Amino acid sequence: MEYGIQTGLDIYHARDYADALQRFTRATANRNIRPFVSVLPIKARINHNRWLADCQCGAGVACDPSWEFGLCSDCGAKHLIEWPLPAKRERLAALLKDRNVPLRSWEPREGDEDLRKQNDTLGIVRGAR
Ligand SMILES: [Zn+2]
Repeated sequence: MEYGIQTGLDIYHARDYADALQRFTRATANRNIRPFVSVLPIKARINHNRWLADCQCGAGVACDPSWEFGLCSDCGAKHLIEWPLPAKRERLAALLKDRNVPLRSWEPREGDEDLRKQNDTLGIVRGAR
């Protein structure tokens, strides 16, 4: 869990990237899907407290900043993931931490001020918990 936000490690219950890659390889082989490296990098976003990126096939790809690729077992794509810098990820987690889990979401087009305004709308008092 990076700064309190779940990553692919938590979501896939994987020990590390090698473990996640092994599971991906097995899952795609079992369904006769051939893995490939996508030329399209995709942006990480936060969805209900999970780091995900959207594959072009429509599936959500759980990802971790330490991984070489985001792995889509639905279509076999291995994606480069565009991550916000670590300081930004830490700030996002801090801005989202007082929300209930289903409300902890962030889109790359949103800035810190957008999240602060959303927190105000949600009636979240900073440091109340
Ligand atoms: Zn896909």
